[in-house]
Amino acid sequence: MNIRKKFGEIVRMYFSKWKNWKSWKVRRTNGDSKCKWSSKTIVFNKDELLKEKDDVDLLFIHEIIHAVIRGGHNQKFLNRLKKAKTTASKLHRSELENLIEKEIDMISKSEKFTNYLKNRIPDIVTIDAPDISWKELVKAITAEHGCKPRDITKHKFARRLFNQAKKLVEIEKKTREKFGLLIPKCEK
Ligand SMILES: [Zn+2]
Repeated sequence: MNIRKKFGEIVRMYFSKWKNWKSWKVRRTNGDSKCKWSSKTIVFNKDELLKEKDDVDLLFIHEIIHAVIRGGHNQKFLNRLKKAKTTASKLHRSELENLIEKEIDMISKSEKFTNYLKNRIPDIVTIDAPDISWKELVKAITAEHGCKPRDITKHKFARRLFNQAKKLVEIEKKTREKFGLLIPKCEK
């Protein structure tokens, strides 16, 4: 497969308003497919390129969206994916449409989980359990949400939020020690 040609085709069909595509490079890789904004390069996993046409088209669409929106799997990403689904429908590509729908479903689920983590981690540490350790926190969330520890620990922001919340708790504690009764402990 000529990936440069394929890239141009997918851009013309699904991202016709994207002007800068010609300044982007496309390469094959043994590693994961990904969009590297710093070098304006999209790399495609060799084995993934050998899959069915619909899978390959979705792969291109997915990586191109990262290039267009310059971001991760956020709401903007989902909106672009929905647009691509509409286009696929107009082009009578029903199998591709199904694949995009599945991708939308998967990403919006993980978006929801990410948002839940962003709210829940600071809450647990600052309100529910200020003395909780990182390990205990992961355990508590897996129990609460029915997910695997890895679902939490794979997100770098999770640990970062935990550390930030811990720092807040520490500052609050020190302030309370310093000023004694002036700041009463907030009861839940
Ligand atoms: Zn992605």
